[in-house]
Amino acid sequence: MGVLSGKTAVVTGASRGIGREIALKLAEEGAAVLCVATNEALLREAVTAIESKGGKGAYAIADVSKATEAEAVIEKIVKDWGKVDVLVNNAGITRDNLLMRMKDEEWDRVMEVNLKGAFNLIRAVARPMMKARGGKIVNISSVVGLIGNPGQANYAASKGGLIAMTKSVARELGSRGITANTVCPGFIDTEMTQKLTEEQKKMLFANIALGRFGKTSDVAGVVAFLASAAADYITGQDIVVDGGMTM
Ligand code: NAP
Repeated sequence: MGVLSGKTAVVTGASRGIGREIALKLAEEGAAVLCVATNEALLREAVTAIESKGGKGAYAIADVSKATEAEAVIEKIVKDWGKVDVLVNNAGITRDNLLMRMKDEEWDRVMEVNLKGAFNLIRAVARPMMKARGGKIVNISSVVGLIGNPGQANYAASKGGLIAMTKSVARELGSRGITANTVCPGFIDTEMTQKLTEEQKKMLFANIALGRFGKTSDVAGVVAFLASAAADYITGQDIVVDGGMTM
């Protein structure tokens, strides 16, 4: 019996990378997991991976930046599985550019997906979770939201905003037994970090105490913990998973 046995969970950005690993981990711990993203083929593959390990999964195609699509996701999980115990807001994008060259579209799209997307899902999930007098919300931020990064003013603002929003959600919904926390990954080995050159990677490793990038499973384990009863008294917190980069 896993720590999430009998629970249901929504994971956004579950088609690949960190989100896919989180979906697999929550399913391995016994949750029925609704995987959300925009790429249907990859979503289907993620659900197949969950089922091949004996877990329960389904998928919903949605652009999280669109409120109606986010609402439809929560309606689906409640209709199909009767409740929503866990929401993991992991969907995220980068549109990097130096501040002076950053286009309005680059700023807007990152804020729409990373920050408004999480808001859309939290607003949609609040009612069923409040009714159930319980729920776990985990938002995937980034160390960039804590310390900034050149070329990522938009991304840093969205991720810092996510941390602040999470604390407000924790205060607003805490009396109903709902927790809200953020996880701040450092550099994790995914498509997002594969864009870096070997030279850039070498420089980054020099500032990471553990001397390497993290694995997607390093993040997924922390999310599973925050989603479990073991974390019932943890809310409004920001857990950094960066191999000792920002301490
Ligand atoms: P990734 O491999 O690029 O995956 C991003 C996921 O988000 C995909 O599943 C993508 O699915 C989904 N997505 C993007 N836009 C979406 C939208 N509008 N609606 C719904 N889903 C959308 O990224 P990752 O590296 O796994 O990162 C996952 C999260 O961790 C992000 O929030 C990222 O900012 C954060 N993070 C990553 C790192 C790192 O080192 N990798 C470090 C710190 C924080 P589709 O393309 O199918 O829509």
